[in-house]
Amino acid sequence: MGVDPSRRALLRGRLEYTPSLRPPWTRNEPDLMANCSQCGDCIQACETNIIVPDKAGFPRVDFQLGECTFCQACVEVCAEPVFHDPERTAPWRHVAEIGPACLGPQGVYCRSCGESCEEGAIHFSFNAQRVPEPAVDTEACSGCGACVSVCPTQAVTVGLPSTQHSTRLREGT
Ligand code: SF4
Ligand code: SF4
Ligand code: SF4
Repeated sequence: MGVDPSRRALLRGRLEYTPSLRPPWTRNEPDLMANCSQCGDCIQACETNIIVPDKAGFPRVDFQLGECTFCQACVEVCAEPVFHDPERTAPWRHVAEIGPACLGPQGVYCRSCGESCEEGAIHFSFNAQRVPEPAVDTEACSGCGACVSVCPTQAVTVGLPSTQHSTRLREGT
C-alpha cells in the first residue's frame, strides 16, 4: 500500500503538507515520497533549471523559473524508481488554467500568455465591445508552463484540468 505523503511529511516533522507540481513522468506522490533519495540529481540535470527542492527536500517544478522542454534529463539521471518510462507514458496530464487575475476580463489588453505558447493552445475571443480574453485548449496544451512566468498578474497556473476549466472551454469563451 502506498505511503500517505501528508502523513510522511508530518512524521518528518513538517506540520503542513502542500502538494507540489512534481517533475514530468513522476509516477505518483506516494512513490516519490517512498523512493526519492533527495539526491538532487534531477535538479542539477534540468536544462531549464525549473526543478527545485520543496520544503521537505523533494523535487518540485517551479514554472516561474521557466518552462519544461520535456528533454527527459530528470528522468534519465534518476537512479530510483520514481519515474514512468517516457517512451511509454505521457509526461503528465497537467494543463494551463487562466484565473480571475487575467487582465483581459478587466478590460486591459494583454496577450503575453498566447505569444509564449508554441503549441498555439491559447486562443483569444474577439468581440468588438471587449478586450480579447484568453482561453486554453486543453487538447493542445502540453502543460509546459511557458505561459506562466510571462503573465504580469500571475493569473496562469498549471495543474490537473479542473471542472471550471472544462466548462469554460465547452462554452467556447
Ligand atoms: S524534462 Fe527536462 S526541462 Fe523538463 S523538468 Fe525534466 S529536465 Fe527539466
Ligand atoms: S534524481 Fe530521483 S532520487 Fe534524486 S532527487 Fe530527483 S527524483 Fe529524487
Ligand atoms: S502550458 Fe505550454 S502548451 Fe499549455 S498553454 Fe501554456 S505555453 Fe501553451
